[in-house]
Amino acid sequence: MCSVCGDRQDPEDEMRALTWVRENDQGRARWLCPRCASRHVRDIESKLPVEYW
Ligand SMILES: [Zn+2]
Repeated sequence: MCSVCGDRQDPEDEMRALTWVRENDQGRARWLCPRCASRHVRDIESKLPVEYW
């Protein structure tokens, strides 16, 4: 499930599942859907906490 927009990962859609981004947030896994990942790619790269997006 996307931690930003709440979109759900479709377990049967493997091609799309590959585009999900797994983030490590203080030891916990966080998932981003492809849409949010591309929108927030710069925030992710700069390790900005999700609260500041
Ligand atoms: Zn999302």
